[in-house]
Amino acid sequence: MTYSTALDTHSIYIHWPFCPYRCHFCPFVALASHDDFMPRYHAALCKEIKEFASKVDRKLALKTIYMGGGTPSTYPDKLLLDMSGILKDVFIFNHDIEMTIEVNPGTVRVEQFAFWRSIGINRMSVGVQSLNDKALHTLGRMQSVKDVYFLLEHAQHEFDNISVDLILGLPGVTENEWKAYLQEVVTWPIKHVSMYFLQVHEKTPLYFRVKTNELSLPKDAAVVDLYYWSRDLFISHGFTQYEVSNFAKSGYESRHNTVYWEREPYKAFGLGACSFDGSLRFQNEKNLMKYLVGVEQGNDVTVFHEQLTEKQVRLEKIMLGLRRAKGVLLDTVMNGLDSDEIEQVTIRLQRLKNHKLIAQEEGYLILTTEGLIVENEIVTQLLS
Ligand code: SF4
Repeated sequence: MTYSTALDTHSIYIHWPFCPYRCHFCPFVALASHDDFMPRYHAALCKEIKEFASKVDRKLALKTIYMGGGTPSTYPDKLLLDMSGILKDVFIFNHDIEMTIEVNPGTVRVEQFAFWRSIGINRMSVGVQSLNDKALHTLGRMQSVKDVYFLLEHAQHEFDNISVDLILGLPGVTENEWKAYLQEVVTWPIKHVSMYFLQVHEKTPLYFRVKTNELSLPKDAAVVDLYYWSRDLFISHGFTQYEVSNFAKSGYESRHNTVYWEREPYKAFGLGACSFDGSLRFQNEKNLMKYLVGVEQGNDVTVFHEQLTEKQVRLEKIMLGLRRAKGVLLDTVMNGLDSDEIEQVTIRLQRLKNHKLIAQEEGYLILTTEGLIVENEIVTQLLS
């Protein structure tokens, strides 16, 4: 099975897996101490992109490009310039294209900001995560608050569209510290915030450190209270919550993420990269050497593809829709159900409405403030 461009693809993702260190909570396809492979990996990425484009009978017009990682801010300028030339050669860039690069504090030089702008990158997503150096260092992330301020001070002259990522619930960050950090964050020259709960993924060092009681996590109830406190703070400073974890000033919602949430096609390149062509999901090889050799020999490096069942598609649409401020169409929830099932879901829906966890507006089901934090349970109730 190969990625189909029967539906136009307007978004691409490019994965840069190299990182200067490995964070203990990281579940991503990321490689520390592999920088020697950067030129070879770059060549493979370019080959993968060119081969994909050569198989499409037209030039695809892109509306978003996302360079994620890993730490794409470590992409050497000369190689990135080469990559940008190839992208402009094989694709059409829409005039209002959103081109994002993920940047980690402590990995940038001042000259890079102007360089990135010169090749068309117009959005930065900065992995701030926390302003507590000690808590970050405990988790293997070697950046400092100074790095964050250095980055923002210089980036703001080139970038109007800056987003920051924050992690709520890190061990070692007190409630008062978090509140003080956020009072600073809302004064920064940023247009977007992604605030995620710390996830403890199996097989990560964090997982073992928590399992062996070397680290203890804050209580769930306290983290939930902080989520609501933070949400109110962002809203009172002009951000709109447009998704459970995402807040933006008007007009600065992430267009690339919206492609994922709307289940539009996107083609991804690189190690372990995941694509969706509107029907099938694909994942590339996650082993660096197998990926490199595979691309170099002209082989398909897809190692996994999956066709979702109608039931899975419905579930995905409900989950993605409910996480967003605009909600999910009631018709989507009821789609494909027989009359008994519709009756059951209607009863459960009424129960959720009575508990003020969900509201209905103009045919859309929308989570209430109370419902935001129990989204998973609501989806389960709607589907069971
Ligand atoms: S910087 Fe990001 S991608 Fe790299 S190891 Fe840390 S969390 Fe993972």
